[in-house]
Amino acid sequence: MIDSAVRALPFDDYLALVRDFTNSELIAREPEMVRDGAVPDDLVRRMAEIGLFGLTLPSEYGGLGWTVEQQVLLTMEFTRASAVYRSRFSTNIGLVSQALFEYGTPAQRDRYLAAMAAGDLVAAFALTEPEAGSDASGLRTTARRTADGYVLDGHKRFITNGAWADVLLVFARTDPEDAALSAFFVDRTADGVTVTLPERMNGHAEGPVAEITLSGVHVPADALLGGVEGAGLRHALRGINHARTHVAATAVGQATRMLEEATRHAHTRRQFGSPIAEFGAVQAMLGRSYAELEAGRALVLQCAREFDAGTPPREKISAAKLYCTEMASEVGDRAVQVLGGEGIVGESPVPRMWRDVRALRIYEGASQIHERNLARALPTLLGV
Ligand SMILES: Cc1cc2nc3c(=O)[nH]c(=O)nc-3n(C[C@H](O)[C@H](O)[C@H](O)COP(=O)(O)OP(=O)(O)OC[C@H]3O[C@@H](n4cnc5c(N)ncnc54)[C@H](O)[C@@H]3O)c2cc1C
Repeated sequence: MIDSAVRALPFDDYLALVRDFTNSELIAREPEMVRDGAVPDDLVRRMAEIGLFGLTLPSEYGGLGWTVEQQVLLTMEFTRASAVYRSRFSTNIGLVSQALFEYGTPAQRDRYLAAMAAGDLVAAFALTEPEAGSDASGLRTTARRTADGYVLDGHKRFITNGAWADVLLVFARTDPEDAALSAFFVDRTADGVTVTLPERMNGHAEGPVAEITLSGVHVPADALLGGVEGAGLRHALRGINHARTHVAATAVGQATRMLEEATRHAHTRRQFGSPIAEFGAVQAMLGRSYAELEAGRALVLQCAREFDAGTPPREKISAAKLYCTEMASEVGDRAVQVLGGEGIVGESPVPRMWRDVRALRIYEGASQIHERNLARALPTLLGV
């Protein structure tokens, strides 16, 4: 439940609150999270109280209703802490809530949205399958019509929050011969739903993604998102464009922190009689990182403003997601280099974050998919 005092804050005060929370609670408790391999439960409750699960939804559904630009500014703050914290509420603020808010029936919105904004209900987005990653057309999960609803069978993998979500938004085909997809709300604890976690994550280790098997899972007819069959891809894209903008902002936040850590180290670590920050080669790594970071920040903010002005700027979102996630990997790699052996051995957060940001280049459209989509759009974008 979001604190009433938080609700009353104007944006600048809320941003300051989130900045303080990031430093004094999220960053401060990273060692504990890493030690336990999970985000502490009481910290998840604090995240809910200060409204992180409700950043994007309007107040009529219990959210804080910030604009996309404000959401991006907030994301750049709280993702100076581990990206795993953000993943914890990402599906509530983005992938699921955006599709539901835009396309859900009034009953579906009433049932889920306020609880999602409060952090009382966690929703996960289950699209990816073993045969359907970058190419959603390979999706094999089926939803067979029955007298009073549907029966779902299939296999999903890499699902963020899948293990502790209350409800899954599952994409399936009502007709295996038809390319169209449909989306269904499925209770994670329903009969026939099995969830497993991987033994090992390379990055995002404290927030593992789930594998989900659906075996003869009955859902009622009103579990169909929007009450319309075959519109699942359009529904998904609404959440995906929003999530890509947020992932680009996440990359900026992560790069900011890694650059802060590297800069601090460069000014305190002495070799050859002076701080390593005085060596040209180290300055090149730090200076270039800052330039790229600021270019990424400007691009995401521009995207967010265009998003707020009307239609999501699809190509610019693709460009921001591509550029910022690649940039964060580069900045992270240089930060490890500046740290020297301490970037490999010991307690520095940099190598952990460097592993975490690697995944950002894969989910919400792998870099190669954005490159392909942008290249295809160029004749129109450039008018040639
Ligand atoms: C941490 C994490 C969280 C995730 N969370 C979710 C979630 O909540 N819900 C969900 O549904 N999914 C989720 N995913 C899945 C994610 O969306 C997929 O991993 C992603 O779409 C890529 O699919 P894939 O892994 O099957 O790789 P593939 O599609 O098999 O791609 C492998 C490689 O081939 C390249 N490639 C593929 N097609 C082309 C092409 N046409 N041209 C050029 N290169 C190509 C890709 O760029 C990539 O480099 C998550 C993944 C991760 C790692």
